[in-house]
Amino acid sequence: MFDVARIREDFPILKRQVNGKPLVYLDNAATSQTPQQVIDAIVDYYSRYNANIHRGVHTLSQEATEAYEAARVKIQKHFNAAKAHEIILTSGTTHGINLVAQGFTDLLHPGEEIWVSALEHHSNIVPWQMLCERSGTRLRVIPMNETGELELEGFLKELSPKTRLVFCNHVSNALGTVNPIEKIISAAHQVGAAVLIDGAQAAPHIKADMQALDVDFYTVSAHKLCGPTGAGALYGKEAWLEKLPPYQGGGEMIAEVTFEKTTYAGLPHKFEAGTPNICGGIAFGAALDYLNAIGMDRIAAYEHELLAYATEKLLAIPGLRIYGEAAQKTSVISFNLEGAHPYDVGTILDKLGIAVRTGHHCAQPVMDFYRIPGTVRASFSFYNTRQEVDTLVAGVGRARQMLL
Ligand code: PMP
Repeated sequence: MFDVARIREDFPILKRQVNGKPLVYLDNAATSQTPQQVIDAIVDYYSRYNANIHRGVHTLSQEATEAYEAARVKIQKHFNAAKAHEIILTSGTTHGINLVAQGFTDLLHPGEEIWVSALEHHSNIVPWQMLCERSGTRLRVIPMNETGELELEGFLKELSPKTRLVFCNHVSNALGTVNPIEKIISAAHQVGAAVLIDGAQAAPHIKADMQALDVDFYTVSAHKLCGPTGAGALYGKEAWLEKLPPYQGGGEMIAEVTFEKTTYAGLPHKFEAGTPNICGGIAFGAALDYLNAIGMDRIAAYEHELLAYATEKLLAIPGLRIYGEAAQKTSVISFNLEGAHPYDVGTILDKLGIAVRTGHHCAQPVMDFYRIPGTVRASFSFYNTRQEVDTLVAGVGRARQMLL
């Protein structure tokens, strides 16, 4: 029994009214809401032990360092990384991707190839385009089909020793497709290519196991996992992290500095220049504690039911088309009402207290594929209810009456 009413009590924001109506928050793929337990961890840090880490002998600094490093271990355990120093604490997925893309600049040569999937968020396209420009490498694309799934055939055929890197999201933010990353990782490894998986949208729904996946890099953002903004993690295999140069220079990331020569700190500090988001890292750990206390398997099962319910109800609305009908999906529904602009539908829903996202969802190539400017995206979390789905369906029906 999944006690959603009890879980909702943990989220103060869910009691809010918007435009005089109870908030129905269905923009979880953009950012998730924060439970009191995580808010308490943030308040506790600033109320009791706010101090800079790693370099203080005083008590507060030691307490903050211990809590920050304990959070790293929580992230390591959650994602089953072999070693804590394979977890680099970042400001989020975008930071993690850029760190890797920058690091590969001198490891690549003209004529070599990088593959990305057609389903990517801009943050998993643009850094690789910039890397291609710097290194003279060629960007190739794994295509998608009408249902929103990747077509791997051509990619698998054309992988070669020229292929150096492959990037793919675990779950598409625009459509909710769960991509066949196991297949992609093992095929890429057969030709010696490294693989970065963008786990930003998967992590709230799927507990990815770094060792079982044998992935080289995996990125997540805390704010999609009931944690704070400005915090996240990059998992990297030790051997790769050793090979990549530091991303930024500064304090924390050095072993010794003279004006003649600087030597760098070991992992993970080599990639963590400057004062990090200390509180954010600690709160990220608290968010994982919160999710694990509920159980990621239970969360996934509940969300799956909600997705099936919402899909069926929405499809009953005349003229509504859902984009992304992959066999494997997380709880994201991208849709349009025939003849209505997504922005207008989203605006009407907001007036009814319903928060959805409208637009291209930072995935313009996906929208171009379907030849549409954007969609309305409802994305569900484990604290959403069937009644909220009913409110959404009624709201879309209302929008249809007003707009068509
Ligand atoms: N990749 C995907 C698939 C995403 O959904 C997002 C966030 N919308 C990002 C990357 C970027 O994450 P962040 O903005 O937290 O860096």
